[in-house]
Amino acid sequence: MYKSLRQPIVCVLGHVDHGKTSILDVIRGTSVAKKEVGGITQKIGAFEVDMESFYRASRTEIGMNKLKIPGLLFIDTPGHVAFSNMRARGGALADIAILVVDINEGFKPQTVESIEILKRFKTPFIVAANKIDLIPFFTNIKNISFRDLQKTQRNEYNEELDKRLYNLVNKFYEFGLSTDRYDRITDFSKTIAIVPVSAKMAIGISDALLMLAGLAQRFLERNIEYVGGLGKGTVIEVKKEESLGLTLDTVLYQGSLKKGDRLAVSTRNGPAVSKVKAIFVSGKGKKLLEKSEVFSAQGIRVVLADKLEVIPGSPAIAIVNDTREAFDEIMKESQINIPLSLNG
Ligand code: GDP
Repeated sequence: MYKSLRQPIVCVLGHVDHGKTSILDVIRGTSVAKKEVGGITQKIGAFEVDMESFYRASRTEIGMNKLKIPGLLFIDTPGHVAFSNMRARGGALADIAILVVDINEGFKPQTVESIEILKRFKTPFIVAANKIDLIPFFTNIKNISFRDLQKTQRNEYNEELDKRLYNLVNKFYEFGLSTDRYDRITDFSKTIAIVPVSAKMAIGISDALLMLAGLAQRFLERNIEYVGGLGKGTVIEVKKEESLGLTLDTVLYQGSLKKGDRLAVSTRNGPAVSKVKAIFVSGKGKKLLEKSEVFSAQGIRVVLADKLEVIPGSPAIAIVNDTREAFDEIMKESQINIPLSLNG
């Protein structure tokens, strides 16, 4: 049905303890709880919120016909270090990002680092202003959109929220970024959306999902066009599993990958090739499902025939005969070293 676009790949960034993991948990949980089969893949380094789960989670039919993306693929490892290390096509693996800022704490060192990295990679993002449940005068409520939350709160709360929000807006302005509360923006090409959320109370998550989907659709269409052909991915985690041996959790961002394909990867001894012995995706619950072919974008677990010391962050490129092109590409990707002064 939605053939032309693949899922945009989403990464979550922000300062430690501002709620990145909690937000990912809520997004993952909403879909898992509401849909028993499929809909979401888990524990393979990335999970998907398909459109059906998306509409249920975002509690809306708005734009149903307009949204052509088949869902959103979230990278499960949050943080700017992960974001910078996961590359694709000379840029970031993530097409789009959520920058999480604790609305009560405001900017912190890793908030600034995240902004700098997002700017450097030219990655569009929304801001999730988290922990709005800690703002004074909060009337306890859970599982609600931000739109509806405001009607349930006293004026004092809404005023306190806006005060904090505009402190953030001013801070962003110092970094040369124009931002505003998402429901007050008229031109999304000029202003970055801030969505007030509470991961703890599951507030505003639906609004954030809608903003992400809208943003991806409007500004990324060309980047997220589905490209067929040989699979290309980025290895995000290398694990040793008792039953399977060495496994590569990989985000496949282009083309398709088949069992038996030869895959070029980057190892400690340089580029290497091995046959794909098995491919798994997440099934119901925590079970893995074996697949003979997978299509982008998707989080997959790959088992190679040979024991290679694959480097996490390595490109994974399917090849037919000639390994040279794939090796060149792998060398090129590993040579792009963007210096980072990171402490988290
Ligand atoms: P991360 O380091 O950015 O991944 O942050 P975590 O998701 O681990 O959250 C850090 C702490 O903040 C944890 O104790 C969470 O329970 C808490 N937390 C996260 N989101 C919220 C929220 O919306 N409200 C409140 N009150 N606490 C939150």
